Amino acid sequence: MKSMPALVKSHAAKGLELMSVAVPEIGPRDLLIKITKTAICGTDLHIYNWDSWSQKNVKPPTTLGHEFVGVVEQVGLEVEDYKPGDRVSGEGHLVCGRCRNCRAGRKHLCIQYKGIGIHTNGAFAEYIAFPASNAFKIENSVKDQVAAIFDPFGNAVHTVLAFDVTGEDVLITGAGPIGLMAVSLCRHIGARHIVISDVNDYRLEIARKLGASKAVNINQSSLSDTMQDLEMKEGFDVAFEMSGHEGAFENILSSLIHGGKIASLGIFPSKVTVDWNLLVSKGIEVKGIYGRQMYDTWYKMSSLLSSGLDISSVITHEFSFDEYEKAFQLLQSGQAGKVVLDWAK
Ligand SMILES: [Zn+2]
Ligand SMILES: [Zn+2]
Repeated sequence: MKSMPALVKSHAAKGLELMSVAVPEIGPRDLLIKITKTAICGTDLHIYNWDSWSQKNVKPPTTLGHEFVGVVEQVGLEVEDYKPGDRVSGEGHLVCGRCRNCRAGRKHLCIQYKGIGIHTNGAFAEYIAFPASNAFKIENSVKDQVAAIFDPFGNAVHTVLAFDVTGEDVLITGAGPIGLMAVSLCRHIGARHIVISDVNDYRLEIARKLGASKAVNINQSSLSDTMQDLEMKEGFDVAFEMSGHEGAFENILSSLIHGGKIASLGIFPSKVTVDWNLLVSKGIEVKGIYGRQMYDTWYKMSSLLSSGLDISSVITHEFSFDEYEKAFQLLQSGQAGKVVLDWAK
């Protein structure tokens, strides 16, 4: 049996292990993908730290990783749309195909999806066995680094396109990589003022480069001062919650215009207190966003990039896969945007 290196959550404890594991066998509808680059997600950091969410969701040993780009090496007997040599990324939510939403074509709302690198072995390895139906071909013009972050880029696209932002004033809470990509997307599709808030100055600086009108450290200045600076009178038209931080909703509700809209992507560590009466009296519309639309969001990502959207400055560091400890520590420190691991050597 051939073996390969993989980054594995090997034990129910903090940390990860670089191990030699068997190269996976593929089924008739799978691709064997040789991984080129992967990116580290906040979810991977949670699993590394073995927090209470991870303890409930991950059963060691599991190979992590769901953000990847690679090259097809082998195709299963029933695969028709892919051939060896195709460069692909892929949708990491494996859906059941049988529930009402799946059958209605709303696969992102599947009631029993599984996540690769969480519930099944993932892409932090030399190879992954991956369902062909979940793969997505990458255009030649897209660099490997950018292709490796299609999964979180898709979260940004799915969220931002939930409401019309053309000519509108937009508030983004949370300047993690997805918030940063949302800034450049809002700019690309014609929002007017784009204000992003966080407490991390390193990331707020990236937001300025990506086209934010104001990147606000919420510990140092308020959104109402920012709105005055921008001569905004009645509030933001649309807000994207991308922080998962307790105070975010309060800031959003008080600074949205009457009839404003919220698309909410961030996951909160515990229940959130919301001034529901304010939400009702302002006539606010809220939409929860999970994953990416299969596969509308993927086609949108591809065409947005070919129409000139540039998200590359959200990627700040790249390491070889065997330097994973360094990469995770850097991400833990918050002094990074997106961190990529290289597997092609
Ligand atoms: Zn992710
Ligand atoms: Zn389903």
